[in-house]
Amino acid sequence: PDGDAPILEVRHVTRRFGRFVALNDVSVAFRRRRLTAIIGPNGAGKSTFFNVVSGAFPPSEGAILFEGRDITGLAPHGFARLGIAKSFQITNVFKQLSARENVRVAAQMRRTRFQLWRPRAAYPELLEQADALLERVGLADVRDKPASDLAHGQQRALEIAMALAPDPTLLLMDEPTAGMSPQETGVMMGLIERLAEERTVILVEHKMKLVMGLCERLIVLHHGEFLAEGTPDEIRAHDEVRRVYLGT
Ligand code: ADP
Ligand code: MG
Repeated sequence: PDGDAPILEVRHVTRRFGRFVALNDVSVAFRRRRLTAIIGPNGAGKSTFFNVVSGAFPPSEGAILFEGRDITGLAPHGFARLGIAKSFQITNVFKQLSARENVRVAAQMRRTRFQLWRPRAAYPELLEQADALLERVGLADVRDKPASDLAHGQQRALEIAMALAPDPTLLLMDEPTAGMSPQETGVMMGLIERLAEERTVILVEHKMKLVMGLCERLIVLHHGEFLAEGTPDEIRAHDEVRRVYLGT
């Protein structure tokens, strides 16, 4: 109904680990079908932000609203069921299985979770779905190779295909280009741009230059605190951001 209402709202979220404050009173909202980057130096709280927003752990204080509904404290599978997906970490890839089997398993595991209102999909349907996803991320040619034989960039693309299996509304990607060659990075950026045309994508990235050309909006975290948000031009011109990144 309200196309402009935020899909995700984070309100005054604080996350502590013991006495350490990893996120401090962060408030930020995200609109539908946009590509937003969260940037900040190492230790800024970017991954913690994703962990809170994907339901991996609850905030110590504050609230998370998804499509207008307060989902604070919901179990992780509850977040997944609502359509929030975090790109799989490499450890979730079964190295000895083929790329195709990995995506099929991801589709099946997710479907099983949805079983309450949806019967388990048939094997051919899951394979068809897996093939479409592999095509999407540019892995159709290598779908029968064991995941362990894929190049690093291809393994990261495989994680994304797995995250896309349940067709999430909101896709969270934590440093998808980490460890990639410049060429692999270019391919990944192109993929992210296309994914953001059809769903909401939030990208965590510490390479500021890289996301400047890709995202219309950036959010900067520093020492667990919200530092700035704005267009690439606004962020480039932001005094405090410059200080954080350039030390001037
Ligand atoms: P970023 O992703 O921006 O590099 P993180 O969110 O991973 O930063 O970490 C922010 C801070 O919170 C770091 O100092 C880190 O050591 C701490 N931290 C993150 N997760 C935990 C945890 N599970 N237990 C204790 N400290 C943590
Ligand atoms: Mg991180």
